[in-house]
Amino acid sequence: MEYFSSGFTLGILGGGQLGKMMLYETRKFDIRTKVMNASEDAPCRIACNEFVIGSLMDYNTVYEFGKTVDVLTIEIENVNLDALEKLEDEGKKVFPPTKALRIIQNKAKQKLFYVDHNVPTADFQRFAYVNEIKDSIQNGGLDFPFVWKAAQFGYDGQGVQVVREQKDLEGLPPGECITEEMVNFKNELAVIVARSASGEVKTYPVVEMEFHPEANQVEYVICPARISEEVAQKAQEVALNVSEEIKHVGLLAVEMFQTQEDEILVNEVAPRPHNSGHYSIEGSYTNQFEQHLRAILDIPLGNTDSKVAGIMVNLVGAEGHTGEVVYENIDAIMAMSGVTPHIYGKKVTRPFRKMGHVTIVNEDVKEARTIAQKVKETIKVVSK
Ligand code: ADP
Repeated sequence: MEYFSSGFTLGILGGGQLGKMMLYETRKFDIRTKVMNASEDAPCRIACNEFVIGSLMDYNTVYEFGKTVDVLTIEIENVNLDALEKLEDEGKKVFPPTKALRIIQNKAKQKLFYVDHNVPTADFQRFAYVNEIKDSIQNGGLDFPFVWKAAQFGYDGQGVQVVREQKDLEGLPPGECITEEMVNFKNELAVIVARSASGEVKTYPVVEMEFHPEANQVEYVICPARISEEVAQKAQEVALNVSEEIKHVGLLAVEMFQTQEDEILVNEVAPRPHNSGHYSIEGSYTNQFEQHLRAILDIPLGNTDSKVAGIMVNLVGAEGHTGEVVYENIDAIMAMSGVTPHIYGKKVTRPFRKMGHVTIVNEDVKEARTIAQKVKETIKVVSK
């Protein structure tokens, strides 16, 4: 099919920053796009050809939207899967495939899938209701501490909580969840795997993630990860294996723990461009958004090597600030070497809301890390 400068239309469900960055690439290739988002205030708005407001969880809305495009993709997993399945049954190209999304959308299903397919992952238990956790503790079936995770609709650490004692259970949402053993990890790593519709596969280098201790959000993503060649190879192998088993088309971001014994455990996966690959816009031969397009449109995949070391710093709303956003000291960070800010275009900031990110590129990863720290200490996302 002819995609470039043609009547072909790519549909994207979700209008957030991941979609916006994907649209930079469709603009580069002059590929027509149509985006649907639940609200009017969407980062994607400025870069798509057509913008539609509609609920991503509503069967009819998603089905009708899907019928108007040639290929359908997502930038968020929480979409109506029955509608996608119907579209697929009718011959529409939907990437990632609904089957892959069904496994991933629910964390309990995702974990069971790992067990069934010999993918190493932390031990867990599944609960239909949060109250059942209390029974399990009383009966000696579960010990503190553990990590509680909502089975669905958690994002950016919102659906995750460490439970150390009985009182930490109060206030948790009542629905389906899993409890996971606490992993005393050395590092959190991620590998993005690209798989095209005809089965070509390429992996990006292993990245290392440093988390904010309270907010449970990534603070720095560092590429390449500062780990041994052996561990990097193991992480790549595990990621490739998950990718093969899930049979996604497009990108699959595989988040992993490196244990104290240098074992690799899969934490979770996302079937789309991912925060851990943002560095690739400035750092790689082919950035993750272009690669996602190549994969779903079945164009040969691009080179995933890095040109330089890259570090990504998330720009999240400062605590105590809610309201119209101001990026304080942005000019100061732009005076630093190899620093590029990405501003997503959300008008209102809230504590810990992802408002943008900054990439730092440098020949030397150590130097990049030093500059990244300065960036982090200098720029502030505050309200007017
Ligand atoms: P989300 O879907 O919100 O990204 P994750 O499952 O990735 O949630 O968890 C967010 C973070 O919480 C992880 O990156 C990690 O830092 C921590 N975490 C998650 N699971 C565990 C675990 N089993 N043991 C220790 N820390 C964990």
